Amino acid sequence: MRTVIFVFISFLLFGACSSAQTDYDMYFKEHSMRLDMVLAGNKHTQSAYLLELKQEPFWGGSTTKFVDKQGYGEYHFTIRDKASNKVIYSRGFCTLFEEWRTTEEAKTVNKAFYQTVTFPYPKNEVVFTLNERRKDGTYNALLTMLINPEDDNIRKEKLPNYEVVKVVDNGEPANSVDFTFIAEGYQLDEMDKFKADVKDMADYILSMEPYKTQKHKINFWAVCSPSVDSEADNPRKDKWVNTAVNSSFNTFYIDRYLETGDVISIRDIAACAPYDHICVLVNSEKYGGGGIYNHFSIGTSDHPKAREVMLHEIGHGFGGLADEYYTSDVAYQNFFDLKVEPWQPNITTLVNFKSKWKHLVDESTPIPTPVNNKYEDVCGVFEGGGYVEKGVYRPAVNCRMKTNEAKGFCPACQEALTEMIEFVTD
Ligand SMILES: [Zn+2]
Repeated sequence: MRTVIFVFISFLLFGACSSAQTDYDMYFKEHSMRLDMVLAGNKHTQSAYLLELKQEPFWGGSTTKFVDKQGYGEYHFTIRDKASNKVIYSRGFCTLFEEWRTTEEAKTVNKAFYQTVTFPYPKNEVVFTLNERRKDGTYNALLTMLINPEDDNIRKEKLPNYEVVKVVDNGEPANSVDFTFIAEGYQLDEMDKFKADVKDMADYILSMEPYKTQKHKINFWAVCSPSVDSEADNPRKDKWVNTAVNSSFNTFYIDRYLETGDVISIRDIAACAPYDHICVLVNSEKYGGGGIYNHFSIGTSDHPKAREVMLHEIGHGFGGLADEYYTSDVAYQNFFDLKVEPWQPNITTLVNFKSKWKHLVDESTPIPTPVNNKYEDVCGVFEGGGYVEKGVYRPAVNCRMKTNEAKGFCPACQEALTEMIEFVTD
């Protein structure tokens, strides 16, 4: 009987895998398609406009998991096979634009931001739909368009001739998490430093859970994109430099918020290597960083806390994790609606806590959990998180998503990151 069950289960597993692979062969070619667009608007309204389509050489993502499982992100896009109307690819993501929409400036100014998404190159005509997440969690279509993959005007430009190094090699891109670092503010003669800096980041990240346990599934790449000048723009010091992806401190007037709106340059450079997540490494001693889900993560190389910051930012960028702090200065206003369960896996409004880390909380632990010695290392429900002091709760007293001094990620963050690693790898 045991043998029969085993054979049956094997058949199911094999059947599922081969069906997914068949889907890839049926719907997609090698290469990836990149869709560049502009998101524009203000606090109250937004629109999306197509810039152009591009064919890129590598597809670093899964060839068996096409439809988004996590449901994270303020935006979501779907690719539908036109003939069958079947959704053949979907992903959620976040943007710098949506963060800007929560700032004071967005109440009085209209602004536009570049945005890009990538997906495996379709074989046949597909319908692309970009959705925004409404406050109640439902989606609203911002842009719908038919894509003919044979269109002569889809750009197939040559890649820049940058050196690409696989700094940590644990397998084929389709079966691995590929963290691809691109150089920002490194001059041509500083590339040995860049490669050493990426290796240093990789060693640190792979020493921290859950990456440590999953390290056999994780690759690190370094794309040696040179800049004319070193470092990054620093408006508070009136320092302006010419760099590969135009990064700057003082984003939204927060000194430590290092970002860039130049995602077109970032994607052009990252296309030199396969990637699941892009990390921009800025050659600077200054404290700062940023991480936006399924967009990119950015941090500096030489500040004493640079490694902790990069790990935190990749928590946002790759893992979709929220900030668990609530006392630091941020530019955002009313970032979370307390009547709605946020989509981020590591904060809760207790509207639907069952959907979060309730299974990790012992029955004897009170909800909310008091911050004292007894619960210092316990997974609980602690008030304050996501820039909000009251009504938003976090899973631990401290976590890498809260401070650089935390020992590492809390249990809820570790679980969410592990699920993401498993989703990206086959
Ligand atoms: Zn956490």
